[in-house]
Amino acid sequence: MVESESKNLGEMQAQWAIVRGKIRQKIGDAQFKSWIKVISLKDYVDSRVILSVPSNFMRTRIIEQYLDIIKSYWLVQNLKINNIEIVVTQNDTSPETDTSEEKRSQILMTSKRNIETKNEDIFSSISSDLDSRFTFSNFIVGKPNELAFAAARRVSEAEDVPFNPLFLYGGVGLGKTHLMHAIAHEIKQRMPLRRVIYMSAEKFMYYFIKALRFKNTVAFKEQFRNVDVLMIDDVQFISGKDSTQEEFFHTFNALIDQNKQLIISADKSPQDLEGIEERMRSRLGWGLVADIHPLTYELRLGILQAKEEKLNARISENILEFLAHKITSNVRELEGALNRLAAFSSLVGREINLDMVQDLLKDLLKSSQRKVNIEEIQKKVSQHFNIKMSDMSSSRRSRTIARPRQIAMYLSKNLTSRSLPEIGRRFGNRDHTTVIHAVKKVEELRTKDVSFDEDVELLIRMLES
Ligand code: ADP
Ligand code: MG
Repeated sequence: MVESESKNLGEMQAQWAIVRGKIRQKIGDAQFKSWIKVISLKDYVDSRVILSVPSNFMRTRIIEQYLDIIKSYWLVQNLKINNIEIVVTQNDTSPETDTSEEKRSQILMTSKRNIETKNEDIFSSISSDLDSRFTFSNFIVGKPNELAFAAARRVSEAEDVPFNPLFLYGGVGLGKTHLMHAIAHEIKQRMPLRRVIYMSAEKFMYYFIKALRFKNTVAFKEQFRNVDVLMIDDVQFISGKDSTQEEFFHTFNALIDQNKQLIISADKSPQDLEGIEERMRSRLGWGLVADIHPLTYELRLGILQAKEEKLNARISENILEFLAHKITSNVRELEGALNRLAAFSSLVGREINLDMVQDLLKDLLKSSQRKVNIEEIQKKVSQHFNIKMSDMSSSRRSRTIARPRQIAMYLSKNLTSRSLPEIGRRFGNRDHTTVIHAVKKVEELRTKDVSFDEDVELLIRMLES
């Protein structure tokens, strides 16, 4: 018992050393020497930290000015702490300490003036780092995300609060975090004096629970009073934690009442968020709710083209199209695939071909592997050659239509288990001999015409691999 307590105290000493180091960095040497250095760790009992200082005067000032910062740093080190108390060490009222008090009062004047900046310091440590690549200019806009994008821009340009909260939602990897960081970057540039905090809901809860434990939720809310824009990412993580949800709700309302811009993201719409109280749910939907839909082929390709250009990766358009077709889940996977190809290409010092892609992205492509049917083939082929799907069955015979149709027949023969007559029927009730002719023609062209062969190869890869 005694042993474990003394071991605990040893650990606490180590933590205290770290906390002191951090505080020193924040407040500077002069303040540190006057106010923090004199504090010593006396005890650690029942999750309470007891610190001691030489005089009452110091105790009062330290509580006033430094206790919060001590608490916040120490909690980051150790979540088990329930409270931090400061006592005066009786036998240490030497005359020397007393005479220096006057000097301390003078220092106090300067430190009072510093208090504003100090609060901000605590803030910037609360706000998470922003990814410098997540800007508006790096965000590719298309149908699926145009509303979210426009709303994000509006919020970052407005002098007032255009809608509150702005609620962004969509599946994983579709750009919610990117947009939030972009808002923060933009505001920092346009209105540097505005205070913007971005943090994950998890982190928000973490600080919040700490505040609850210290019974200083008032101070917690106070911290947000100076904020102009508060962004909470992935709010679905708040669901389920009842007591904290209640408090979160109050904080949330208070901020909206004070006309602070709130921006919330989640993987679902407010109505579909599970484990969230009804009134919270409806409150979340009061402002503007903007969803990001699953990405279309065009947007996927656009994103790949933009990223390829940035990477300067020497990856051909064909391959980008192939990736846009095959990797449909989210942007993160698209980026991952592209990065891998770029790294390989720079390693081997030449352009990547489809075979290499197959090999390098085996794992990513496998997940989307599936059986194809005639309809899909017709659709892909007409898309690829920019003709109407209905022309697959029409009687038009111009080369620009007939050739793709023949390719589609050829692919149907090779990629599905359908019989020739069945294939013929699906292409506008044509005879099976027409299908045989198409297959032969395509086989012949593939041996003669390299670019034709590449086209067909690409289609096969896209449909099947
Ligand atoms: P989410 O937060 O919705 O899960 P992220 O914002 O983290 O998704 O996006 C995942 C990755 O995809 C990031 O690297 C991001 O830059 C990128 N990304 C997402 N959407 C786009 C887009 N429209 N244009 C460019 N990059 C995007
Ligand atoms: Mg995210």
